[in-house]
Amino acid sequence: MTPLPPGSTIGILGGGQLGRMSALAAARLGYRCHVYAPEADSPGMQVAAARTVAPYEDAAALAGFAAAVDVVTFEFENVPAATLDILAPLVPCRPGVESLRIGQDRVLEKRFCESAGLAVAPWRLVESREDLASAIAALGLPAVLKTTRLGYDGRGQAVLRSTADLDAAWARLAPRPLVLEAFVPFEREISAIAARGADGTLVTFDATENRHARHILDISIAPAPVPQAVADAARAHVAALAESLGLVGLLALEMFLLPDGRLLANEMAPRPHNSGHWTMDACLCGQFEMHVRAVAGLPLPEPGRHHDAVMKNLVGPESFAAWPALAAMPAVALHLYGKAEVREGRKLGHATHLLAPGTVSKAQDPGRFAPV
Ligand code: AMP
Repeated sequence: MTPLPPGSTIGILGGGQLGRMSALAAARLGYRCHVYAPEADSPGMQVAAARTVAPYEDAAALAGFAAAVDVVTFEFENVPAATLDILAPLVPCRPGVESLRIGQDRVLEKRFCESAGLAVAPWRLVESREDLASAIAALGLPAVLKTTRLGYDGRGQAVLRSTADLDAAWARLAPRPLVLEAFVPFEREISAIAARGADGTLVTFDATENRHARHILDISIAPAPVPQAVADAARAHVAALAESLGLVGLLALEMFLLPDGRLLANEMAPRPHNSGHWTMDACLCGQFEMHVRAVAGLPLPEPGRHHDAVMKNLVGPESFAAWPALAAMPAVALHLYGKAEVREGRKLGHATHLLAPGTVSKAQDPGRFAPV
């Protein structure tokens, strides 16, 4: 396709930090962004050239949005698929609704990964309390019970350690159906991100190790300190998924690394991903620019990683309070999201410590390079 010329407008569904950082990357390439979200003064809206504040179900507002933009993308994976169904006849949507639908639903996601040849943790669909009992009989305990939709940052899941945990978890988790997964005794969690262009060009970023605190991503280490074959396999997996989806945009894949070196796919997201924030500062072309390039039909270069990196999320008031210290640190890139409310458990910014290439693979524990 012909690239969108500078001055064109990219429509972004969702007003969060991923849209904000996409809009900033788009601005650098001469594009304007129009953010559509239900909340006014969201992080994305603050840096947008135009805004629509309306519910995702508002057909008239969506039609006005479609008329005002040259292409539409999304930064929030819980945008209703029906929203893209309304927009798709009016304006190109990248990625398309199929990628959104699969990314929103754990069951579709698992089936899709399996059909693309990726291994996932043993799982069962749980539609009733009886299903839960038979799923536990099949998979054993411990196990993890999860909602199939609307779960993020560890919300919508429960670790079941004994049969005494079942009733409370069954009562709490909604909406149903649920899935039960065997508990994975992983050695590390890693992720990889692929970008795919409308012409089929595919590039991948280095695999990343992710460590969580209270179910929320805490630090990402890049490149993941894993054997080369594992890193290559992680990149090949996400590339294979992007290819079979025919997606135009970004796809992130979170995986469990088992002690025997095998990878299990856990979750995918057809958008920029928190575990790729390090790429903004440690690559010539970071994930947000790659996202913009893919949706605008620009060439997709190799990312050109020039540093190793350790990214730290600033989650909640305590972590956010470190920002003045982070702003004073050499070799640390600070990103704050402009959120009005500094609340517990909220992602408010991140900081990336840039390290000389090769530092991570030589370090005993690269996590100690986290900027705070
Ligand atoms: P998810 O919402 O699926 O990304 O899960 C959030 C986090 O919970 C993961 O990053 C893991 O740390 C943990 N987790 C999820 N599923 C499993 C599992 N089947 N076995 C062990 N840990 C899990």
